[in-house]
Amino acid sequence: MSAFMASKHDGAICLFGAPFDSTASFRPGSRFGPGAIREVSYAIETFSPVQLFDLEDCSFMDRGDLELPFGDPNPALARIEEAAHDILSAGKIPFLLGGEHLVSLGAIRAAAKSYPDLKIIHLDAHADLRDDYLGMKLSHATVVRRMMDLLGPDSVRQIGIRSCTREEHETVTGLRSSPEQIGSWAGTKPCYLTCDLDILDPSVLPGTGTPEPGGLMFNQLTEILISLVTMLRIVGLDVVELAPQLDPAGVSEIVAAKVVRECLIALGKRA
Ligand code: MN
Ligand code: MN
Repeated sequence: MSAFMASKHDGAICLFGAPFDSTASFRPGSRFGPGAIREVSYAIETFSPVQLFDLEDCSFMDRGDLELPFGDPNPALARIEEAAHDILSAGKIPFLLGGEHLVSLGAIRAAAKSYPDLKIIHLDAHADLRDDYLGMKLSHATVVRRMMDLLGPDSVRQIGIRSCTREEHETVTGLRSSPEQIGSWAGTKPCYLTCDLDILDPSVLPGTGTPEPGGLMFNQLTEILISLVTMLRIVGLDVVELAPQLDPAGVSEIVAAKVVRECLIALGKRA
């Protein structure tokens, strides 16, 4: 039992983990992300001094981790989609813990069925807009391209991107937005927030598969997340790419758990 697991049994927000990292191109290990976040959620306070609100007053529950097959990503994505669909059908908000970034596609496929006009807010160091990666259409490096295939070219806005290919660069420039710009773009449309933790500087969160220097500080990220969650009609979200074993100091998992806490509180406070 962790602070997250100890949550109410029938909450408005449903956490669930996707321990999957089969397409990791550099350093695997994000399959251990959801478990590590739960375990260290013991170690952090439930109260947020930034939002002046306590996790204990938020209506959420933790459904634990999915059991996912490795290798071919298709069956894993199908299981993630099914779990997200169950949560959405019950009128709740799915909050997915990765796993590598590809897992988001499963949740977004489910959300797109419930909300055909879904908008995606993508926080990441990397564009993830390749059409294929070494011949693979389904990869952490192509995941946002697959979301755009599904929902259309104007369905995505990005924050934090600082690494892309020459081919991706023009698209990245067009999608880069501030939270305020995203607020006026999305209006009251349903939004899905996908947060790749490597948006943070590697000095803040070294425990990730593809660290990218020049990133955000912790307070910058939480400020952005809180403003997005407060402003937008969030119908689903995820926090992905924590690879806890790549940080022997064990700080990254605490950073990730605090990001999750601030998101839960921002959502729960709103409800
Ligand atoms: Mn990513
Ligand atoms: Mn990334």
